[in-house]
Amino acid sequence: MSPRLARRGLCLVLAAPSGAGKSSITRALIATEPGLTLSISATTRPMRAGEAEGVHYFFKTRAAFEALRAQGALLEHAEVFGRLYGTPRAPVEAALAAGRDVVFDIDWQGFRQIRAALPADVVGLFILPPSRAALAERLAARGDAPEEIARRMALAWSEMRHAGEFDYVLINRNFETAVAEARAVLTAARLATTRQLGLAAFLEAAARPDPDGA
Ligand code: 5GP
Repeated sequence: MSPRLARRGLCLVLAAPSGAGKSSITRALIATEPGLTLSISATTRPMRAGEAEGVHYFFKTRAAFEALRAQGALLEHAEVFGRLYGTPRAPVEAALAAGRDVVFDIDWQGFRQIRAALPADVVGLFILPPSRAALAERLAARGDAPEEIARRMALAWSEMRHAGEFDYVLINRNFETAVAEARAVLTAARLATTRQLGLAAFLEAAARPDPDGA
């Protein structure tokens, strides 16, 4: 029997200004990609309507968040819009070791830190909105308060300035196309030779003459 081509998992970081469609693209990928799980972040921001504890975030007080950070339980953390956000370390490390992939809906600061922590395991994809008007429309449709929308619009550029640091970039003009493009990035990243831990064993077995002489 030929050996399985064992592979280390990877971290697919999706970043974008709020409202660029990142969360919907992430959900669509997870729904159709076996072996891909979402990293659930911890945050000190209040829960929005429709969100649930442990599904969208682990909602924490500032003190509880800071305790996690002090214990080294966060792989990365950042302050966004005056709130703390961070990635729990243990689930990511377990997934990578088991050959499972993890997708992250985090900002550019988180991407930098995760890439520094796990340089060989991280693939970054930046999602751009097609226009400023489209971004404003999506934020309004989401039900955020007008002041919140204005704040996020003002900060969108400071996030987009970092698009060039990512490995890949796509413009979300059409949702289905954007999901297909994100999936193509994931597929290519999965096939990278550096991730094929079982490649040497596979090649060795393939080169061995068949015992039946066939
Ligand atoms: P929201 O409050 O709209 O859910 O997220 C606000 C921003 O925080 C988004 O850009 C989101 O990607 C980012 N974010 C969410 N979780 C994390 C995290 O764990 N780490 C970092 N660095 N950013 C995060």
